[in-house]
Amino acid sequence: MRIVACTEGSFGKLEPLSLEMITAARAAGTAGDEVVAFFAGQDPEPAIASLGVADRLIAASAGNSQLIAADPYARLLADAVAAEEPGLVLVPYSANGLDVAGDLAARTGWPLVSYVNEIIRDDDRLTVVAQVYGGKILAECSVPLPAILMINPGAFAEAERRDVDASKVQHRDAAAIVAEGKVRLIGVDVPSYDSVDLTTAERIVCVGRGIGDEASIDIARGLADILGAEIAGSRPVVDSGWLPKARQVGKSGQKVKPKLYLALGVSGAPEHLEGMSKSDLIIAVNTDPKAPIFNVAHFGATCDLFDLVANLSERLQAASSR
Ligand SMILES: Cc1cc2nc3c(=O)[nH]c(=O)nc-3n(C[C@H](O)[C@H](O)[C@H](O)COP(=O)(O)OP(=O)(O)OC[C@H]3O[C@@H](n4cnc5c(N)ncnc54)[C@H](O)[C@@H]3O)c2cc1C
Repeated sequence: MRIVACTEGSFGKLEPLSLEMITAARAAGTAGDEVVAFFAGQDPEPAIASLGVADRLIAASAGNSQLIAADPYARLLADAVAAEEPGLVLVPYSANGLDVAGDLAARTGWPLVSYVNEIIRDDDRLTVVAQVYGGKILAECSVPLPAILMINPGAFAEAERRDVDASKVQHRDAAAIVAEGKVRLIGVDVPSYDSVDLTTAERIVCVGRGIGDEASIDIARGLADILGAEIAGSRPVVDSGWLPKARQVGKSGQKVKPKLYLALGVSGAPEHLEGMSKSDLIIAVNTDPKAPIFNVAHFGATCDLFDLVANLSERLQAASSR
């Protein structure tokens, strides 16, 4: 079987989740299966240079300055799929992948399973474990092939970076498809992170919607000060204007890997986990014992965050004044 694994990158850099896609493809395959990495974006050469771990690569580009939106990316992928006739296509659960996977399913009529955490291949049978209800339930699904899987970032380890063999790269000119595309990506607005750089923080206290309101963030901020930690928030907290965008963790925020990540009232949606699941030590506090944050937490407490924060702050303060 041939497996097409979609990869991503921009400004000459490969997104690390691209390497996770190769590991996922290997998990889905058996010996003798071929893994073809698909890349569409500007300036592919430096981005794909370390993707030699794939058996072959397809790199579509419309020039070094032309960004590629999800709409033309999906068309380019559909063309590659038609030519390669794979048994399986893996798409990352990313902002781009969200648009691309559904488009490809509509074009091909193939089944699409989203939020995939685990892949089990047994001869010709493929079973996947996928999150449903925001990760509260894990569903084991038998998948008829050919199929499309959307892989959760962080679910698979990154494959080792290896230099690419140029003879294994097939370049595609994407200029015509990008020009015809209904959506054109004209630029990328990177928010200013002058105030704080969470990516280098050693300790983070992150508040989710469970914090309730803006004023209550001060309670968590007090604990963060005692711990020497940065305060951060989930997307609803930032969207509500309770914390600045520079302090958002997750898919559309910062990707962090602190020594300590204390999650207070965060449910652990896949988009949040994408930004923090690689932290060294994750401690989660949530009143719901089925909250998916507990799937990645090393330690957890199912209690009211306000009780825990008050108690912990008091004890830490007492210990430091001894
Ligand atoms: C394309 C896309 C990008 C996204 N990007 C991001 C991103 O970058 N970052 C991000 O975080 N999300 C992102 N999201 C949103 C994500 O899907 C979730 O909606 C979000 O993470 C939920 O935030 P939350 O956990 O704070 O809120 P909720 O899911 O509402 O969870 C609140 C939790 O608090 C608990 N709780 C309530 N009261 C208490 C209490 N007193 N004590 C203890 N626990 C309590 C509840 O049990 C619940 O589990 C994105 C979504 C999409 C579609």
